[in-house]
Amino acid sequence: NTFAEIDLGEALNQNIRRCKYVKPTPVQRHAIPISLAGRDLMACAQTGSGKTAAFCFPIISGIMRGQPVQRPPRGVRTVYPLALVLSPTRELSMQIHEEAKKFSYQTGVRVVVAYGGAPINQQVVQTLRDLERGVDILVATPGRLVDLLERARVSLQMIRYLALDEADRMLDMGFEPQIRKIVEQMDMPPPGVRQTMLFSATFPKEIQRLASDFLSKYIFLAV
Ligand code: AMP
Repeated sequence: NTFAEIDLGEALNQNIRRCKYVKPTPVQRHAIPISLAGRDLMACAQTGSGKTAAFCFPIISGIMRGQPVQRPPRGVRTVYPLALVLSPTRELSMQIHEEAKKFSYQTGVRVVVAYGGAPINQQVVQTLRDLERGVDILVATPGRLVDLLERARVSLQMIRYLALDEADRMLDMGFEPQIRKIVEQMDMPPPGVRQTMLFSATFPKEIQRLASDFLSKYIFLAV
């Protein structure tokens, strides 16, 4: 019933204490064990429910404790994140990035954010610079990520964790083609082992379709 009882790895548990999180929120209490068990998840959760930590903790913990991965050498332009968090807006992406950085402090897990919107050039330069320093978790808006994929600055071939945050809002904003293009790249052979978490405040037909297309044998959670 407290985070201290969930073994997420010492460094992450310490960061959680530092953030003064003691008790998991309902979505965290259910989603974290499901994700740690390796299952795909579709969660109906509202803003303010604590969903950011619900997807960040299993991702950070999994990367910290996963087998070391052989990524192609850095210095070349393309980077290979292990986790991708897609979010609808620049504001939400920045917020997730800030939280994810706090949670990953001294874990060795690196988080980079890439979002669209003005001032475009400045942000692109900064993102490229951040990416070149290495990235484990990429937080991105769909449009900007498609751009980075087209420029071959990012490859999704090694993605092990995919989180879609506020999926209903992303669809409302017309991002479905970009999202499908992004997920298609992860499904290209050789097929990796990808764990997917989909968060949405509502669960209309369009979201159900995404869930059945992107998730495998998923657990449905409504809090
Ligand atoms: P979110 O829904 O992820 O945007 O989180 C809403 C707010 O609740 C954020 O300010 C979080 O830092 C905070 N929060 C999330 N989980 C917890 C928790 N278990 N204990 C205390 N605060 C939390």
